[in-house]
Amino acid sequence: MPISSPPLRSWAEIDMQALRQNLAYARSLNPSCSLMGVVKANAYGHGIKRIAKAFSEEKVEFLGVANCGEARRIAETGIKTEIYVLGPTFPDERPEIVKNNWRASISNIQEANHFNELAQAAENKLAVHLTLDTGMGRGGFLPEDAAAGAAHIESLSHLTLEGAGSHLPSADEDRDFTLRQMKQFEDIISHLPTLKYVHLSNSAGITDYHAGSCNLMRPGLILYGASPLPEYQDKLSAVMSLMSRVSLIRTLPAGHGISYGRQTILKKDTRVATIGIGYGDGYPRSLSNQGAEVYIRGRRFPVLGRVTMDQIMVDISDDDSISTGDSVELFGKNILVTEVAEKAGTIAWEIFTGITPRVTRVET
Ligand SMILES: *Cc1c(COP(=O)(O)O)cnc(C)c1O
Repeated sequence: MPISSPPLRSWAEIDMQALRQNLAYARSLNPSCSLMGVVKANAYGHGIKRIAKAFSEEKVEFLGVANCGEARRIAETGIKTEIYVLGPTFPDERPEIVKNNWRASISNIQEANHFNELAQAAENKLAVHLTLDTGMGRGGFLPEDAAAGAAHIESLSHLTLEGAGSHLPSADEDRDFTLRQMKQFEDIISHLPTLKYVHLSNSAGITDYHAGSCNLMRPGLILYGASPLPEYQDKLSAVMSLMSRVSLIRTLPAGHGISYGRQTILKKDTRVATIGIGYGDGYPRSLSNQGAEVYIRGRRFPVLGRVTMDQIMVDISDDDSISTGDSVELFGKNILVTEVAEKAGTIAWEIFTGITPRVTRVET
């Protein structure tokens, strides 16, 4: 039985039309560029199978995943779009990667050699990409080792060097560094043999730098409708709306405490709505007493006191039209996920991936 069966207290609406619009926007920023739709972490919590299927229908060149389990879930759907495993691989993941012809991003000589042995044993020729560390510090060949790394891969009988990529650590935070990094990346690439795919840009890199001189972009967040840089937000549409319902409405007297720790004491008689969502659904507890708001019947209302595991309380004194059962948006089209993230002291990526399995995803 699914963790959450109807009737649902909380759910996430997934707007597939918005997803396609965001994809079209990303492409419009560099129309000659190929695109990898990044679908790691259950497509940023949106449901990897449905998102992969939509991107495949829209003919993206690659689907980017973090591990074999995610790749397998895509493969199970019968989708034929090439799958790219972001980041270094563990030795025990590699046989499955070779067997399925998933793209691996190679970070060192040992990884290349192991893939070559496995491909040889499987009588397969495996296309791989060279990963370069131009500042992220997470994986890949350092710039001075790039040419030797590429030459080594090309010398191996059962690998084909299909592309090279790197990653931007600060495209939304440090313009000078990012421009220097892009220049350095171009310089390294110009000394490598001609490759089918050259890629560097995540969402921030695509919106602010139009993916530079690369011919493959790797957006994640913007496809789901959230921009790392606020100035591009109005070009995007929220794909996920986190929703819940009003379970109870009461008027509580002045002096009454609200939620654990009683950090909120009502100053006046207050109409309080209880909502059926909490941190057990991924609505962060760190939003407690940070000015978080929810959206009910076309208006915003403030959250009162601490977020609990399954419920939150909201001050609805200003509106007597609200009734139990009313839908509540926690974030989505009216309250941006980036606003919620900021108040929770985190980033939109973490909010999306923190929505728990108790929240049923419903396509709209
Ligand atoms: C997650 C990831 C992306 C996508 O990043 P966004 O900021 O969500 O666009 C791109 N490239 C790599 C290597 C990643 O790990």
